[in-house]
Amino acid sequence: MGIHMELRLYDTLSRDKRTFVPLDANNVRMYVCGPTVYDFAHIGNARPVIVFDVLFRLLRHLYGEAHVKYVRNITDVDDKINDRAARDFPGLPLNEAIRKVTEQTGKQFHADVDALGALRPSVEPRATEHIAEMREIIERLVKGHFAYVAEDHVLFSPQAMNAANSSLPQYGALSNRSLDEMIAGARVDVAPYKRDATDFVLWKPSKPGEPSWPSPAGIAAPGRPGWHIECSAMAWKHLGEHFDIHGGGIDLVFPHHENEVAQTCCAFHQERMANYWMHNGFLQVESEKMSKSLGNFVTIHELLADWPGEVLRLNMLKTHYRSPIDWTMKSLEESSKTLDDWYRVAADVAPTKPAASVVEPLLDDLNTSLAIAALHGLRNSDVNALAGSLRLLGFLSESASQWEARKQQASGVDAGEIDRLIAERAAARARKDFKESDRIRDDLVAKGVVLKDGKDADGKPVTTWELA
Ligand code: AMP
Ligand code: ZN
Repeated sequence: MGIHMELRLYDTLSRDKRTFVPLDANNVRMYVCGPTVYDFAHIGNARPVIVFDVLFRLLRHLYGEAHVKYVRNITDVDDKINDRAARDFPGLPLNEAIRKVTEQTGKQFHADVDALGALRPSVEPRATEHIAEMREIIERLVKGHFAYVAEDHVLFSPQAMNAANSSLPQYGALSNRSLDEMIAGARVDVAPYKRDATDFVLWKPSKPGEPSWPSPAGIAAPGRPGWHIECSAMAWKHLGEHFDIHGGGIDLVFPHHENEVAQTCCAFHQERMANYWMHNGFLQVESEKMSKSLGNFVTIHELLADWPGEVLRLNMLKTHYRSPIDWTMKSLEESSKTLDDWYRVAADVAPTKPAASVVEPLLDDLNTSLAIAALHGLRNSDVNALAGSLRLLGFLSESASQWEARKQQASGVDAGEIDRLIAERAAARARKDFKESDRIRDDLVAKGVVLKDGKDADGKPVTTWELA
């Protein structure tokens, strides 16, 4: 990599933009928190998927496809999954019902994010397949006196971590919170088995019928993991004790990522878990975070019925990943028009390598809004570079005619039928039946199809059409 190809990333922990240097000069390792599979994902959930897909593609461009390992987990053990399983499959044993919910939702998630142009990660580990690693980390934490057993739970003690005289990070450093203030502000109705209000669960007993595994740390009752330990275990298994990039939405900084750092660093006596912590901002509706609980959400699946996935993708990338996005119809319509135009001029031309004017802003902490402005410039100066640059960003997965055909399908227009009517109209005109030829044209206009009469390269009359 030349000096001009230097990648700079904003790190939530150090709160500045730094040159990206991978731990292993030739191989990059990235972990991003994935979905909890209990329901359709909403378009806010798609933001980290798309943002880190762009980073994955950029890293592959810089380091080579075989040199980037991207791990995004699937959380398949969770209270919300249990509740959904009991509700949707009341006749089935809970474990079977849970399997049905996680299978269906996992498949739907893949269908959704594939349509958004997101590459599949290198590994998609499932929490339930990493219980052994979770137990191992928990055992280490108990041995190191960072965690303790109480009433069949295992709890992590942030105070024990901060009291340890070692090179461990301070609990609270990532989220920029002081543990003392957290203690002072803690709720009063703390679970009785906790020594301190700020202690968090690593492992808990399962209720009868719930998924359960043999417990660590000498606990006889079977149990199940807490949420935070899952990511520490899966990241460790697939990327090691210390890796390059950890990502997710900004809402995960506290407590989820703070707790991941605490678990991993204390278990492996490390100063750091990841060298760069990256967090996307919220996708909002009328200035409020889109979320299940607020009920202001629209699923990816619903949006895909109205818009091609690449329109949703472009609409997401128009805003820098750390800024909030207001998700509006107007912006979607603009994104749709832009892509129609880019497909027309660039989908069928030979792509050259991505333009420097597009890559350079991406190297500056994924400045996709500036990269998109550069694409608009290329539209009028170099369509081959436009094509190459769009492909780097995960666009132009279809040919121009496939794109057009899909838009017609979505609008209920049948291209074969239109071609047949155009031929009928030409025949009517040839026999000078202008009443019939006008009737055919007017019928098509009523369906939103506008005919254009012109001449082909040899001067012969041809009729093309487009949607009004
Ligand atoms: P969840 O299923 O709520 O754990 O969220 C899965 C991922 O989507 C996490 O990385 C969240 O931070 C992210 N996320 C959830 N809601 C939004 C939102 N409105 N905007 C951006 N990211 C979000
Ligand atoms: Zn996580």
